[in-house]
Amino acid sequence: MRRKIAAGNWKMNGTAAALNELETLAQMMPEAAPEVVICPPAPLLFRAVDAAPEGIAIGAQDCHMQAKGAFTGDISAEMIADTGAGFVIVGHSERRDAHEETNSDIRAKTRCAWGSGLTAIVCIGESGDDRAANNTLDIIGGQLAGSLPDGADGANTVIAYEPIWAIGTGKVPTLEQIIEVHDFIRARLITRFGAEIGDAIALLYGGSVKPDNAEVIFRAENVDGALVGGASLKAADFAPIIAAL
Ligand code: PEP
Repeated sequence: MRRKIAAGNWKMNGTAAALNELETLAQMMPEAAPEVVICPPAPLLFRAVDAAPEGIAIGAQDCHMQAKGAFTGDISAEMIADTGAGFVIVGHSERRDAHEETNSDIRAKTRCAWGSGLTAIVCIGESGDDRAANNTLDIIGGQLAGSLPDGADGANTVIAYEPIWAIGTGKVPTLEQIIEVHDFIRARLITRFGAEIGDAIALLYGGSVKPDNAEVIFRAENVDGALVGGASLKAADFAPIIAAL
């Protein structure tokens, strides 16, 4: 059985007071909840780990591609692990775009994450132009091959498919489009890593997941959860998404 994960990416939102949402969320979560991960801004990681009730894991939103050194303002995977966090998002489209991160940067970040015992949530996704030009699967295939190092498995890696045009826009692909891309990713993982490992890596959908569309998205066989931005900030929004999984 593949792991099921609902991950929340708070992006650059929230101060210490926002961590009160963790307790509220835990109270609203169903008993048989999937894995729940909250990725708050980096300055909150230590406090988030302390504040997180049972059933909520903490992750970071990025790590550096090198283990340590003269990289002012950056955060290493080891530092993230030192806070007690267990996950790190790498390759989010906002990082690929605003920080010009390449597939090979993300591959190096993923290796660093693994080296510190973190599960990497590796993000891939096409732009609106890519989709309009019918290039979605080419782009996804290239990002997957380029961003994922050898050695991925179901414990150290989660893939998040996040169409860029769906992030924060309220636009969501059709269920057929989601199925097509997730089935494609699954097939590529099986070809590269073999059936056992390829089948064990959880695939998340991300991009405007809300309480009112989660149930439909989760119908897709190869959707094992969601990476949620805006709707993860408030427990009242995130809890029904978790319950739908
Ligand atoms: C995200 O940024 O990873 C994301 C999916 O955002 P939203 O849910 O707000 O579209």
